[in-house]
Amino acid sequence: AKESGGHGARWFAPEMKASAVDQMMIEGRLRHALESGEFALFYQPIQRAGSADIPVVETLLRWNTAQKETIAPDRFIPVAEKCGLIHDIGRWVLREACRQAGDWFRTRRNPIVVSVNASPLQLADPGFCDDVEHALEAANLPPNHLVIEITERLIVEDDFVTVANIRRLNSMGVRVALDDFGTGYSSLRYLTRFQIYSIKIDKSFIRNIVTDAKARALVQAIIGIGKSLNVSMVAEGVETQEQADILKNLGCAFLQGYLISRPVAPAAI
Ligand code: C2E
Ligand code: CA
Ligand code: CA
Ligand code: CA
Repeated sequence: AKESGGHGARWFAPEMKASAVDQMMIEGRLRHALESGEFALFYQPIQRAGSADIPVVETLLRWNTAQKETIAPDRFIPVAEKCGLIHDIGRWVLREACRQAGDWFRTRRNPIVVSVNASPLQLADPGFCDDVEHALEAANLPPNHLVIEITERLIVEDDFVTVANIRRLNSMGVRVALDDFGTGYSSLRYLTRFQIYSIKIDKSFIRNIVTDAKARALVQAIIGIGKSLNVSMVAEGVETQEQADILKNLGCAFLQGYLISRPVAPAAI
């Protein structure tokens, strides 16, 4: 194994093909991070288009290492998925997000719904909905104040446990959002199989809507699908006022992106 030295982040480059020993060291660091409180949740506002309302915030995981680096989730979630630690990390995220949402629920005049990313591997775990239930109970949070964001990345659509879990989330009253919409193979089928509360249009579709008429037409069509199925539409990666204006005119109800706010620490919400 290589020395991590002051360049620990290099361990987590996605293109790296780690040896078995490297994998074990990375897993060890991730487990240590979980046990010693190096993970933190940031929150990114989701704004109602054309207003200042923030009805929902998305939780985004950060790893603040002892070496004072902050590592983004894209760098370590795939490793955690590979070594199975995603289940423990995901449970921590759920508990912490629900605890925070419970605080907001009891102390704010207009409570905020918290939207949590779930790995497809968590969704394929028979214990997942029990974890969600326990997190809600421990935080004394009503289920409709939690959204679970699911993506098609890695999802085997016909996985029996995954389907059962999504249905159970539906019957528990936890809301389900389709993340990165349009980037997978079965987004459209999901809309008919489950009760989907919101669709998050992937930022790759939003990026060019100002300059590219085809990109704009595509987003318009996606919003039309959402409207006809009565699903609320969220545009991700909104960075400019021009994008926000176009999206509002196309009837997209909710906007998320650096234009509104970067992900911030909970105290800033
Ligand atoms: P995502 O769920 O699609 O989250 C949105 C990502 O876009 C976040 O990156 C966010 O910081 C970034 N973003 C927000 N607004 C803008 C914008 O205007 N422009 C651009 N270019 N980017 C924007 P982040 O925080 O690095 O997270 C990356 C991915 O890691 C997430 O993508 C999600 O798939 C995953 N992730 C984050 N937290 C968790 C978690 O707790 N559990 C799991 N399983 N996955 C997580
Ligand atoms: Ca997400
Ligand atoms: Ca997304
Ligand atoms: Ca994504």
